[in-house]
Amino acid sequence: MRVALYPGSFDPVTNGHLNIVERGVAAFDRVIVGVAHNVRKQPLFTPEERVDMLRQAIGDEPRVEVVAFRGLLIDYAVKRQATVILRGLRAVSDFEYEFQMAHMNRRLAPEVDTVFMMTGEEHFYVSSNLVREVARFGGDVSAFVPSHVKTMLQGKFKS
Ligand code: ADP
Repeated sequence: MRVALYPGSFDPVTNGHLNIVERGVAAFDRVIVGVAHNVRKQPLFTPEERVDMLRQAIGDEPRVEVVAFRGLLIDYAVKRQATVILRGLRAVSDFEYEFQMAHMNRRLAPEVDTVFMMTGEEHFYVSSNLVREVARFGGDVSAFVPSHVKTMLQGKFKS
């Protein structure tokens, strides 16, 4: 049984993330989408909101679990018996950070490998950051996120 942990902030989930989840399900037996609580970034959405948006976007797929986690990613991967950490790569700019993280995680737990999937070409410029910026100033994000996420973004920026 090959379990992959796909970790991230998902603040909010985008079509780019969903593309990786879909392909993850095709490549592994189970995918755990791990929503990080985030000490580094100040998130727009709470972990519960991010989990809910992901669950709604993924729908009824028994091989995908969406869950929030705290603490060190690699500890969570080991605890959940994931043998793979799944990450998406967009541009060269993603590479350095991902490279460092993959090596650090390998030092911490050599039995867990990091696997990268190259983004679908229609998603390579889509990031949660940009989606938040566009939505903040009233731009149309319908091409980048599912419709319920668009509604959640509008709700955040209205208040
Ligand atoms: P993090 O804060 O861990 O970078 P993100 O939610 O920004 O969390 O991203 C989670 C993962 O999804 C990362 O591996 C990131 O590279 C990947 N990802 C984000 N956007 C896209 C996209 N448009 N296409 C493919 N992968 C993506």
